[in-house]
Amino acid sequence: MARGRDTGGPLLESSQFVKGVGPARQVRLSRLGIERVEDLISHFPRTYYDRRNLSKLSHLVPGTSATFVASVLAVSKRRGRRGRNLLTVAVGDETGILHLVFFNQPYLEKSLRQGSKLIANGEVTSYRGQKQVIAPEFEIIAGELDESLLTAGRIVPVYPLTAGVSHRMMRRIVKAALEKCTHRIPENLPTRVIEQLGFMSRENAFGQIHYPDDWQSLKEATRRFKFEEVFFLHLMLRRRRRNLTRTRERPAIGGPHPLLEAFLDALPFEFTPAQVRVLERIEHAVRGKPGLNLLLQGDVGSGKTVVAIAAMTMAIGKGYQAAMMVPTEILAQQQYERVCGYFSGLNVRTALLIGSMTRRDKDRMHQMISAGEVDLVVGTHALIQEGIDFQKLGLAVIDEQHRFGVKQRATVGTGKLLPHFLVMTATPIPRSLAQTVYGDLDLAVIDELPFGRRRVRTELITDKGREQVFESLRQSLRSGQQAFILYPLVKESERSDLLAATEAFERLQGEELEQFPLGLLHGQMSFDEKAKAVEMFRRGEIASLVTTTVIEVGVDIPNASIMLINNPERFGLAQLHQLRGRVGRGGKEGVCYLLCGEGATERSLKRLHFFARTDDGFKVAEEDLKLRGPGEIWGFRQSGYPSFRLINPLSDNEIVQQSWEVSERLLREDPELTRRENSIVTDYLAMYYSPRMELAEIG
Ligand code: ADP
Ligand code: MG
Repeated sequence: MARGRDTGGPLLESSQFVKGVGPARQVRLSRLGIERVEDLISHFPRTYYDRRNLSKLSHLVPGTSATFVASVLAVSKRRGRRGRNLLTVAVGDETGILHLVFFNQPYLEKSLRQGSKLIANGEVTSYRGQKQVIAPEFEIIAGELDESLLTAGRIVPVYPLTAGVSHRMMRRIVKAALEKCTHRIPENLPTRVIEQLGFMSRENAFGQIHYPDDWQSLKEATRRFKFEEVFFLHLMLRRRRRNLTRTRERPAIGGPHPLLEAFLDALPFEFTPAQVRVLERIEHAVRGKPGLNLLLQGDVGSGKTVVAIAAMTMAIGKGYQAAMMVPTEILAQQQYERVCGYFSGLNVRTALLIGSMTRRDKDRMHQMISAGEVDLVVGTHALIQEGIDFQKLGLAVIDEQHRFGVKQRATVGTGKLLPHFLVMTATPIPRSLAQTVYGDLDLAVIDELPFGRRRVRTELITDKGREQVFESLRQSLRSGQQAFILYPLVKESERSDLLAATEAFERLQGEELEQFPLGLLHGQMSFDEKAKAVEMFRRGEIASLVTTTVIEVGVDIPNASIMLINNPERFGLAQLHQLRGRVGRGGKEGVCYLLCGEGATERSLKRLHFFARTDDGFKVAEEDLKLRGPGEIWGFRQSGYPSFRLINPLSDNEIVQQSWEVSERLLREDPELTRRENSIVTDYLAMYYSPRMELAEIG
């Protein structure tokens, strides 16, 4: 429908026909993902050079930065101090001479031939009375400089390039593409939104993001495109959520809840006020539409899983099935045992479904689930991978969400009945990011630890302290405590510089910890071997479990009070936080030793110091974010969402917020977006978002 009108126009034509492209160059552009005219004008600069004021060489003043045009007079190459390769290029214009100095870039010699003309900018300095610029940004220019002012006299775009396409060429092509689209770039935001947020028109924004009049206009153009990136996503998420609950029935789970009461009565502890609050919210939401779509955040050990089990009793008590999906088989096994324990006297039929079960067992399990002979299933990805047909799935719980892709959540329960969703994570997500990535979910936080639970004491130890640590470890083990001894996952190539868990195990068994029964747990073991090791540890037959990060998520062994992490500098902070959350769950104080390797850098030590004195998981995650991208921490990189090119959902918090509100209001006033003034939005969504979002469909 969009193509029928002039919404497409030249934008949809092949970029091959843009002036200056042609078939050969088009092949190169394709490598940058550029196929159509719209891709060309959406090929945003990666940075800009300010070339508004060109200076003559004789006017350059040391200590200032400047842009100038000059010709190469001579090039000299030599070895400088400390073996650095030094390239000095004498350039001149009709007023004077200047030296450009490059370190360790000998290949530049090729392009800087005597007589070539260049435009450069950088900081002017003075060395032995000679003006010079060290490591300038520069471009060789051919032909007349002022031709259409693409290279100088303005703020100049610098594009991501590919082999065979120069800066100059790319600028000309993009400029030609923009000219081709003059007055033909359709608006995609309703006039009211544009007015309310003071945006420039879409066409204007395209012009300014490539060739800004000044920095302010660039900022404005960028602000608009950032908004677009998140706004259409928000609209999609909101609409999808609405449509789902309209076409699929949501279980109506109303009170009273005798099974819940029985479950709570049987628990050996009282819920914390935060747990009670969340449970009440869940109870309210599962009564019917729009239902439960909750992202529950809470630090490790704050009691999320118990709340989830309580929620499952509500569904089960009303004749529905409940499923809990967890990221690893070990954890599935453990949670399964946990629910079996809780439900032993309560007439709830529980089942476990994991990938390593035999085909026959799995088939039988599928049958029972679809026949409604099972009330509660705990499982891994196997729950979604195998297309299980639940008879009556009322609630789907997803534990440790950050270990699953967003997409995977979507596929739980695809029957006519739309289950309620409870998604849990121990790696807290800042609000603006959550709204962007999990915009279809409401947010809740358990912000206190169960009464009596103490924080884990964390000690940072460099290699010299190693002996002492093992001495205190032996003491604790003698007094009946248990410890995890953790090594970073070992890749083959790292074998030489890091002790693998197995090697470490043998060494510890022979030396530092020879008097104690040790167990080994790593990723290469079979499920049965893993389960056995965990079980022996739980029963106290093993004093210390030597392991890798397989232990990271959710494993709950109350008597384990010590976590010794080797080479903590190799882990992300959020991950370390998960790890230390494994201990101190019983009555004893938990201790976490971070035993740094010799290779730990100043910077990583600083980071670990911060970690050792910070026990708030939210703060830890924030610090982690400064170092690693959000995708790495929360695992939604390959999630099927459109990627963000300009917006950073964290620092552009305000834009995310505006989009969140504007999208809400727009859909409240015009749920189907059928009003005339909103048709541009519908068209744009249909054309650019719907196909991609199929991938990211949220249950
Ligand atoms: P999470 O899933 O948030 O890491 P869990 O639900 O696994 O936390 O709870 C961690 C441990 O604390 C479990 O052993 C659980 O039985 C216990 N626990 C949970 N809630 C409470 C509470 N309110 N009081 C005491 N212990 C609790
Ligand atoms: Mg948990």
